[in-house]
Amino acid sequence: MTITVHPVMGLPLIERGDDLPALIADRFELADGDILCVASSVYSKARGHVRQLAEITPSARALSIAGRTGEEPRFIQAVLDESEALILEAPFVLSVLSHGHIGVRAGVDQSNTETGRVILLPPDPMAAAEEMRSAFEVLTGTRIGVIVTDTCGRAFRRGQTGHAIGWAGLTAIRDFRGESDLFGHTLQITEEAVVDECAGFANLVMGESDNGVPAVIIRGLPAWTGHDDLYWHEGEDLIRAALCAQTPIAPLR
Ligand code: GDP
Ligand code: MN
Ligand code: MN
Repeated sequence: MTITVHPVMGLPLIERGDDLPALIADRFELADGDILCVASSVYSKARGHVRQLAEITPSARALSIAGRTGEEPRFIQAVLDESEALILEAPFVLSVLSHGHIGVRAGVDQSNTETGRVILLPPDPMAAAEEMRSAFEVLTGTRIGVIVTDTCGRAFRRGQTGHAIGWAGLTAIRDFRGESDLFGHTLQITEEAVVDECAGFANLVMGESDNGVPAVIIRGLPAWTGHDDLYWHEGEDLIRAALCAQTPIAPLR
């Protein structure tokens, strides 16, 4: 099995209204079975999921949290507005988003955008991935998988990696349960989060600063079967339960 990973070079600074699938298809010839990873930041820029800090008035809650984290209160207000619930307020805000993702500062970014503007995560990243997948099918006649990525921190370890926050045309998880190991034991537990592994490698190729590579193609990964149940359900997430037990936080709304 040879897997190749290709950056899409030469994409411009993305503006509201840009047709990302067309811009990518103009620069890279996609083939059936390719997996296209797109940075959530550029999808959001193309769709106008951005805010000007100057137009935000911080609430008392935002002012209080900003005082504890040492951040800009209007930025914290943007984070609160994107959050369904908070797990931590300090030393950084840890948010639950409506689409199930849990992320530091609700994934609101101040990098790779003009000063005074923040980039929000796509409000429905699964729909974003499906929208791009079907656009490629219409534009190029190819059937590909699409993963919308974001750079995220992790529990237990220092350092950020790419995570999948939306996907289409493939399943999030490859389910190994029921398969045999080298010694004939039936696997009971292993579900591999393939979309996160792809997002991790794509994120490595994208870089975080001024590379200008928000789209990466993974080619040659054999198809897999599994399911899309990537997020822990209420009550299954031990880390969330432990954090919430330690630091009870008032509901947002
Ligand atoms: P995130 O991980 O989705 O938050 O996105 P990042 O801000 O880390 O950007 C990922 C990659 O896309 C980096 O290589 C950035 O330089 C690049 N990037 C971000 N915005 C743009 C853009 O508007 N145009 C281009 N060509 N690259 C961008
Ligand atoms: Mn981001
Ligand atoms: Mn990033």
